[in-house]
Amino acid sequence: MENIENQILKDKRISFLSLGCKVNAYETEVFRERFEKLGAVIVPFEDGNADAVVINTCSVTNIADRKSRQMLHKARKLSPNAVIVAAGCYAQAVREKVVESGDADVLAGNDKKDIITELVAEALLKKDPKPACDTAPAYGSGEKEDFCHERTRAFIKVTDGCNQFCTYCIIPYVRGRVRSRDTGSIIEEAVNLRDKGYREVVLTGIHLSSYGTDLTSDPDAVPLLDLIDEVSKIDGIERIRLGSLEPRIITDGFVAHIADNPKVCPHFHLSLQSGSDTVLKRMNRHYTAEDYENACNLLRKAYELPSINTDIIVGFPGETEEEFNETMEFAKKIGFAKIHIFKYSRRKGTFADKMPGQVDEEIKTRRSEMLSRIDEANHINYVSGFVGKKVRILTEQEEVYDGKKYMTGLTERYVRVALDNRDCPQNVFVDCLVTGIIDRGVLTGIPADIV
Ligand code: SF4
Repeated sequence: MENIENQILKDKRISFLSLGCKVNAYETEVFRERFEKLGAVIVPFEDGNADAVVINTCSVTNIADRKSRQMLHKARKLSPNAVIVAAGCYAQAVREKVVESGDADVLAGNDKKDIITELVAEALLKKDPKPACDTAPAYGSGEKEDFCHERTRAFIKVTDGCNQFCTYCIIPYVRGRVRSRDTGSIIEEAVNLRDKGYREVVLTGIHLSSYGTDLTSDPDAVPLLDLIDEVSKIDGIERIRLGSLEPRIITDGFVAHIADNPKVCPHFHLSLQSGSDTVLKRMNRHYTAEDYENACNLLRKAYELPSINTDIIVGFPGETEEEFNETMEFAKKIGFAKIHIFKYSRRKGTFADKMPGQVDEEIKTRRSEMLSRIDEANHINYVSGFVGKKVRILTEQEEVYDGKKYMTGLTERYVRVALDNRDCPQNVFVDCLVTGIIDRGVLTGIPADIV
């Protein structure tokens, strides 16, 4: 089949758009590589006139559904003759409806993404049954080079699916149960990324804490730690970040293990969702606010100023003012570096959708705004702790603040620093002294040493 796919896809212009989470972003990269291997030319989504457009959709909230639909329409408008492909969670959730409605020509939900190139080749052939040899000019190869050079941080998806069944979440139904990749294939991918020049990788997955639990029968094993050890043995990969972790994985043993590994960044995303125990119970989260706080304390004992980030849902069914206040107080107490705030969104097929006490949108908006104010104060407070200190950044991109260009990069704690030295190249480590705050938590720094 690969040969036929090759003939059909060779020199076809394909564009991609990824919506939603990091796992989707990762998977879109994988799609991109697979199409390129088969001879397709990758063109920017906004340029239009593609032969096929792949939208990796998201269905985590109603807003994500709407955005997925809007982007499918936009793709149709930009590339009216293209095969429009709906991939990912929204495509999986609404299935054939997305094709019946005319929003997409091809459905590549999570159960079909492994055969996406085959599906697109078939659809292209149906649309234009001429032999697929001398089609579009092969422009864009330089663009691919630039694309790679721009990148300094690569995501590696190590596991898919989830067994947790939080009552508000559709993911276990649309992505299935935990399925982990074997260590060998992950290492191979990491080595490949290192060879392309990446110095920082992010290990990610739908439920990263479950990595490898499907590959072992030992209930006490923490396969994620073994994986981190293996990845950190790769010379040239100098930073390892971890995607979202479940607070229950943060034990004395876990923290001691990672704190001993200088490549692991002290930047943690621990999903909280609510600071109220009664809400956590209704969400079917298997920890209490106290458990969560203990996990943060362990990290703070092991690291100086670790970056602790989280997700919080406001307006979960039945959330009272009192329960919301508990979340507000908890957010202040923990002092998160960043809170990602979500207004609860009903998802058909979940338990929470059928729960009584659905909260008015107006109340959700008010609560979201109140929590945002705490988040802003927490964030400024967190980054201020670095003023006057030396930090190391990995330079990424130029950004403009107050009309002036800076080279910016991230510290290992994921704080952005703008260097007053634009001659600094991309993708190098720079030791610098933090001099102040320039914009909503972005720090300014004076470079000392390029590493
Ligand atoms: S842990 Fe909960 S919120 Fe996260 S993917 Fe699994 S079911 Fe969804």
